[in-house]
Amino acid sequence: MIDGLPLSPRTDPHTHSSCSDGTDTPAGLMACAARAGLDVVGLTDHDTTAGWQEAAEAVATTGVALLRGTEISCADRGVTLHLLAYLFDPDDAALTEAFATARRSRQSRSRRMVELLGEDYPVTWQDVLEQAAGSHTIGRPHIADALVASGAFRDRAAAFDGPLATSSPYYVHHWALDPVEACALVRAAGGVPVAAHPRAAGRQRRLVPDETFARMAEAGLAALEVDHRDHTAAQREQARALAERLGLGVSGASDYHGWGKPNRLGEHLMPTALLERVLDEGRLGLVLP
Ligand code: AMP
Ligand code: ZN
Ligand code: FE
Ligand code: FE
Repeated sequence: MIDGLPLSPRTDPHTHSSCSDGTDTPAGLMACAARAGLDVVGLTDHDTTAGWQEAAEAVATTGVALLRGTEISCADRGVTLHLLAYLFDPDDAALTEAFATARRSRQSRSRRMVELLGEDYPVTWQDVLEQAAGSHTIGRPHIADALVASGAFRDRAAAFDGPLATSSPYYVHHWALDPVEACALVRAAGGVPVAAHPRAAGRQRRLVPDETFARMAEAGLAALEVDHRDHTAAQREQARALAERLGLGVSGASDYHGWGKPNRLGEHLMPTALLERVLDEGRLGLVLP
């Protein structure tokens, strides 16, 4: 039982706004969450907390509670991993510095990718900046939007299937935190870390080994996001078994990005028991209507 919420709240704990690479403003996202019948929505923009305030201000009018979070870019010996962090102190010096470093590195990496792409596609850095207007965290989705605007691709997915793929010669890495260190930093800032889509293997993408999740668990990892559309049924079962083996909770989420992806709000949910644990362990509370 969570004060201010129905007995079994519908909680979608992983979404993006236009503060990173989603297409709805934070207030627009809250309105969509209300239409989708959610009781709680987690705003987890990449490497930033910039959308928290606007989303919080929309809680009263939409009636949807806000779970404040961030999706932190991590890399385990070159393999990308995303870590969701909930209810941490947004002024924590170590975390805010890591976020700023990641955002700066994402910017120079995107610029380098656009230099390479510009030799073969009609795209300039200025085009990408126009697409990313209002965003604090630039990424491949904004490059995709510029390629779509130029007429080179139909939508983001087509651009990701082409020159923006991880395996493409135009792909450039960016700096990212070590995931074990990230778990420790999130806990030190009073937050609760949950590994996002841990078994999702994009084309050619290598997976983080179980042993890394074991070390993350020791550093305070609370749960694995098992129910996510980027996991096949078999990958969900593997992730569920891994969570059980490591004594971790199991989460689920949409990873909604507005019209940037087909993911629909509420298509997967966080179990109530895990939400209760996140609220028990997090330094902040929900923003309630
Ligand atoms: P980046 O963090 O800049 O490397 O870009 C990764 C982001 O692109 C993630 O947030 C994904 O949600 C998004 N993304 C990955 N694949 C696709 C796709 N096929 N269509 C749209 N967005 C995608
Ligand atoms: Zn994204
Ligand atoms: Fe992610
Ligand atoms: Fe995400």
